[in-house]
Amino acid sequence: MSKYNTLLYYCYSRIENAEQYTQEHLNFCKSLGLVGRIIVADEGLNGTVSGTVEACEAYMKHIHADERFAKTDFKIDEVDEPSFIKMHVRYKSEIVHSGLRDPKYIDPNKETGKHLEPAEFAEMIDRDDVVIVDVRSNYEHNVGRFKNAITFDIDNFRDFPSKINELAQYKDKKILTYCTGGIKCEKASALLLKEGFTDVYQLHGGIIKYGKEAGGKDFEGKCYVFDNRLTVDVNKVNPKVISKCFNCGKETSKMINCANPECNEHFTQCDDCGWELDGCCSTNCKEHTRKREYDGTGYYVKLPQPVQVKSKKVLS
Ligand SMILES: [Zn+2]
Ligand SMILES: [Zn+2]
Repeated sequence: MSKYNTLLYYCYSRIENAEQYTQEHLNFCKSLGLVGRIIVADEGLNGTVSGTVEACEAYMKHIHADERFAKTDFKIDEVDEPSFIKMHVRYKSEIVHSGLRDPKYIDPNKETGKHLEPAEFAEMIDRDDVVIVDVRSNYEHNVGRFKNAITFDIDNFRDFPSKINELAQYKDKKILTYCTGGIKCEKASALLLKEGFTDVYQLHGGIIKYGKEAGGKDFEGKCYVFDNRLTVDVNKVNPKVISKCFNCGKETSKMINCANPECNEHFTQCDDCGWELDGCCSTNCKEHTRKREYDGTGYYVKLPQPVQVKSKKVLS
C-alpha cells in the first residue's frame, strides 16, 4: 500500500468570484499539505494534486461537498512519492487553454459530445463507422496514442480549432475524441458539434481512466502526464512501444525535457543517450552555459522563463 496518492480531475462549473476562490483554495490545499497544480477559471476547476492518502481523501471530500463540484470525477493514482514539489493554484481565463473562452460560442455545461465510459469506448474502437481522434499535442501523441487514431500536428491545444478542417471527410462518421483526463474533449467535442459534426462522442475520464477501467487495451505507447512522472503506463492488455530515441533511434518511451533551459524541448531519449548527452537533445545544448544538472529523470521543477535569468534559489 503506497502512502501517497496523485489525483487528476476537472470540473466545468460556473464559479463566481473565481479570483477570490483561487486564494482561498490555495490556503486550503496548503493546510492539507498537498502539492500540485490547480487552475481556477470562471468556467471551473482543473487540477493535479498529490499528497498523503488522508490528505487526498480530505481534499476530495471538500470538493464533493461543494455543490458546484459535486459531480467531479477523480482519477486516483497510487505513487511512491508526491508528484510535485510545490502547491500552485492559479486563476486563468480558461481551465484548459483553447482560445474558446466565450461560453456563448461553446459551453461544455450545455452541449458537448456524448460521454463514453471506458468499456463503451473499447467496444466501439474497431467499428468501420468510427473515427478515433486524438485532440492532444505532438509531444503527447508522439509517445503514446490509440491504435489508428487521427492526430494533429499541433504544439498546443489552442491550435486544435484551426485543424478541424482535417476531419471534414469524416462528417458522416461517428467521431470519438480522447485526451489525457477528458478535459480537452469537453471543449473539442463541443466545438465539433458547433462545426457541423453530428455524431460526436468523448472518452469520459480520458486515457487515464481508460487505463484503470479497461486495462488500456489498444492504447499504444505511454501516456504523457503533467507532473514529474512525465509518462505513465496505460496498457496492461496489449502494450507496445511506438516511440524511438530522438538521438539513436532505439525504441524507448522515456520522455524528458532538454537540460538546456532555453531549449527545454520535450522529446524521447533512451537512457544511454541521456547519460551521454547529459540529458540534452544535442551536443549544442549540452554545451550551453545554463545547462541544468541531469539526474537521469529529465524533469526540472522550475521551467525557466527564456528572458529572466535567475540565480539558483532553494525551493521551500
Ligand atoms: Zn538513444
Ligand atoms: Zn535542446
